[in-house]
Amino acid sequence: MRSITLRPEAHRRLLFGHPWVYSNEIVMDAAAKTLPPGGVVRLLRADGEPLALAFFNPHPLIAARVLTRRVDQAIDAGFLAARLTRALGLRERLYDRPFYRLVHAEADGFPGTVVDRFGGLLVVQVNSAGMELLLPALLEAIDRVLSPDTVLLRCDSSTRALEGLAPYVKLAKGHLEGLVELEENGLRFLADPAGGQKTGWFFDQRDNRAVVARLSAGLSLLDLYSYAGGFALAAASAGAREITAVDRSEPALNLAEKAAAMNGFQDRCRFRRAEAFEELERLGAQGTRFGVVVADPPAFVKSKKELKQGARGYRKLARLAAAVVEQSGFLFIASCSHNMPVEEFERQVARGLVDAGREGRILRAAGAAPDHPVHPALPESAYLKSLLLQLD
Ligand code: SAH
Repeated sequence: MRSITLRPEAHRRLLFGHPWVYSNEIVMDAAAKTLPPGGVVRLLRADGEPLALAFFNPHPLIAARVLTRRVDQAIDAGFLAARLTRALGLRERLYDRPFYRLVHAEADGFPGTVVDRFGGLLVVQVNSAGMELLLPALLEAIDRVLSPDTVLLRCDSSTRALEGLAPYVKLAKGHLEGLVELEENGLRFLADPAGGQKTGWFFDQRDNRAVVARLSAGLSLLDLYSYAGGFALAAASAGAREITAVDRSEPALNLAEKAAAMNGFQDRCRFRRAEAFEELERLGAQGTRFGVVVADPPAFVKSKKELKQGARGYRKLARLAAAVVEQSGFLFIASCSHNMPVEEFERQVARGLVDAGREGRILRAAGAAPDHPVHPALPESAYLKSLLLQLD
């Protein structure tokens, strides 16, 4: 195994539990620069003391991603299977049914790797060159621990480019035809793992959907950025009176509409293909109001450079959405932007409410469900933020 030496003092963060080493913290000599992207290396302190085994990639800013502090550990299918068993044990404790995020990257000990489970189908998203090289071992580990019917490699995230990886979508095992069914909070939904967004379903909002649904009984609800109807149908099931789901994607709305019919909610649900801001302006102007408004948009801030503009987007969304909430009604607003700090998000929402001339109170601030654990040294990886408010 090759070794990589850290600059003096660069080991400190590692000793505090951080799992990454940045490229400027490494002695980037000719040997290091020519190592193949993603290979497993031994990380050495400046004095030569071995600290950890890590994926190494000389090109991106995050040059090393720690796999284990046991420097004599073999990195193979057995190692990955043990981690997978731990991850599975946690999810089986959390949930009765086999529909969840099974692996959430660093927090589960799988650098840059996500696995979502839809019963016998696993959808794997690899975003690090290290795991891309280890893919045969990962697939073997998956087979040993879960023996799934189908494994889909949904490796088309734009973040792969940072690691020098090309995008692809490919079946690694079994067959997959179109849509799959999943269960969440006792409801049936439809996802399109090969063609839909990300891995096909946003498991992260599970708990937030349940909380919003409970408040919605007897009220009308507007679900903006509805995707496959996660919030809309949860609310319908909890007794919401009339539900309007809005998304600009026709395929997404088709999933939501089919799932509404599957659950017998079609009479109370309407689906509207529209741009969210335009639809809010239209509804606001015609005086339509809702008991509950849900706004769960795609990431407005895709990089640090976009922070200012993205912040304005959240403020505008809060303003337009608040304007169509009935008196004493509720607003749920979320941000899934990694690069949007939670305090900044909350400040922008507060400003948007003032812009709309509304007052109210925060009932709950919450992140993702616990099948999306957070690495203790990477609090910023808790990407999902949300506020639930009542407005006067
Ligand atoms: N709320 C969903 C997840 C939303 S994902 C859930 O609970 O699962 C973001 C969604 O926003 C996608 O379905 C995408 O098609 C939609 N979208 C993106 N930009 C939009 C826009 N400008 N107007 C309306 N919908 C948009």
